[in-house]
Amino acid sequence: MNTSNLFDLTGQVAIITGGNGGIGRAIALGFAAAGAAVAVVGRNPEKNEAVLGELKATGRPAMAMALDISARDELESALGSIQDQLGPVDILVNNAGIASLSGGIMSEAAEDWDAVIETQLNAVFLLSKIAAASMIGRQAGKIINIGSMYSYFGSGLAPSYSAAKGAVIQLTKSMAVELAADNIQVNAIAPGWFETDMTAPIKDTPMEEEIMMRTPAARWGRPEELVGAAVFLASHASDFVTGTTVRVDGGYAIR
Ligand code: NDP
Repeated sequence: MNTSNLFDLTGQVAIITGGNGGIGRAIALGFAAAGAAVAVVGRNPEKNEAVLGELKATGRPAMAMALDISARDELESALGSIQDQLGPVDILVNNAGIASLSGGIMSEAAEDWDAVIETQLNAVFLLSKIAAASMIGRQAGKIINIGSMYSYFGSGLAPSYSAAKGAVIQLTKSMAVELAADNIQVNAIAPGWFETDMTAPIKDTPMEEEIMMRTPAARWGRPEELVGAAVFLASHASDFVTGTTVRVDGGYAIR
């Protein structure tokens, strides 16, 4: 068996939602380094352009699309346009996300709840449905959903986030069951605590201290440290792996 090609993504087309942010950018660049053509999706055109510049520097085909994934009516044409430019999608990473640090259900506004569920859960369902329709035609594909430690644990701070991330793991399993016969593997990654814009409000607060005490590695993760798991789940190395969640958390979940 030649193991050198197991993680090679040459010729694969990957779409990464939230690909202009901390974790998504790292995965996008990691996939390009492994040979993939990469499309990043995000709302902010400046952030999109910055990552696109880095992707182009790798020499791989790349594009960035300004899209709000909560705009349901725009998803099908957006993915169609990406596929027209780069080719049929082989890998979808549902990574885009927001959090409402409301402090609990008693203080969370219904609109904030809806925005989180729409971005972190409903869009995962809708985008996966569109990508899977293309993958089924070719009898191959990989869908990777980004969960969280709050896929497992409750959060008094961000209940909508925890509800969505818990559901994403169940959705991952359900899609894995449904799509296995079409040779589409659906898996999740549950990151521990990573330094990004999303977690910036927690830095230098008592919560940071609690997190560090609970994380056996006793430090924040760097987005680049998620790339190995993502490339594994995107590549032929994981062709018989489906419905699972890979924790990349410095041991947070075992304590
Ligand atoms: P960032 O805030 O750095 O990135 C979030 C990304 O999502 C940005 O690219 C943002 O781009 C995009 N995004 C948000 N809303 C939308 C939308 N409606 N439409 C399109 N794009 C959107 O955070 P992270 O990199 O930390 O988060 C990435 C994922 O990882 C999220 O799902 C998060 O929940 C998850 N996660 C993060 C952890 C951490 O410790 N950082 C831990 C566990 C999970 P733009 O603003 O341009 O739209």
